[in-house]
Amino acid sequence: MPLEIITIPCLSDNYAFLVHNKASGETALVDAPEADKINKVLSQLGWTLTHVLLTHHHWDHIDGLEELQKTHSPKVIGAAADAHRLPPLDLAVAEGDSFTLGGEEVQVMDVSGHTVGHIAFYLPASGAVFTADSLMALGCGRLFEGDPDMMWASLSKLAALPENTIVCSGHEYTEANGRFAVTIDPDNKALQSRIDAIAEARAQGRPTVPSLLSEELATNPFLRATDPAVQRHVGMEGADPAKVFAEIRQRKDTF
Ligand code: ZN
Ligand code: FE
Repeated sequence: MPLEIITIPCLSDNYAFLVHNKASGETALVDAPEADKINKVLSQLGWTLTHVLLTHHHWDHIDGLEELQKTHSPKVIGAAADAHRLPPLDLAVAEGDSFTLGGEEVQVMDVSGHTVGHIAFYLPASGAVFTADSLMALGCGRLFEGDPDMMWASLSKLAALPENTIVCSGHEYTEANGRFAVTIDPDNKALQSRIDAIAEARAQGRPTVPSLLSEELATNPFLRATDPAVQRHVGMEGADPAKVFAEIRQRKDTF
């Protein structure tokens, strides 16, 4: 049985996720933007944190941990590469490592680019990947530490997961991402209809995260650097996809 996944909006536009195994009672939190909102959901559901999985060192993904540790004693898991700038870890992991959570395998992927040391957690049995600020709904994280080649390699790994994978990313940036995406991929009908669906969801106050990898592959401009129409539109037909990605990321930075 797939693990239950709950999305918790935090701060102004962050998302944290709870991953729960009903049978064992194990509950993992993916990223800890702030304690209050997370504790509120936990107490409504009657769950206690057994694990916290950290994707990267930015404050809006870790600052809630200390407060949560006052009432929970979770095992804290994060990147070995970032151990010097993450809260103390009980388990330090790297690309290719795996561990068990709620009876399921969790695979660790290095998805550096936004930061160097950013990791994603892939749960093959549940068909979900936690990508935080690497692959995002209709977007990708800004390149604060890594370079375009690094982020393109990270996105390519994520793009190779099964199409029906649920992408649990870190922020509600989707509407703004859509306004940019149409400038890169204006003739994409799937993108147009996704933008309509996003506008409707936001008007009703619903999150646009998680999304499906298949929708990202069809509409996310940062995954579409291999697409001839996108390449043509940015004037780089036949160019190396990593270079096309770099151009698209550059345009987004100044959009
Ligand atoms: Zn970040
Ligand atoms: Fe963030």
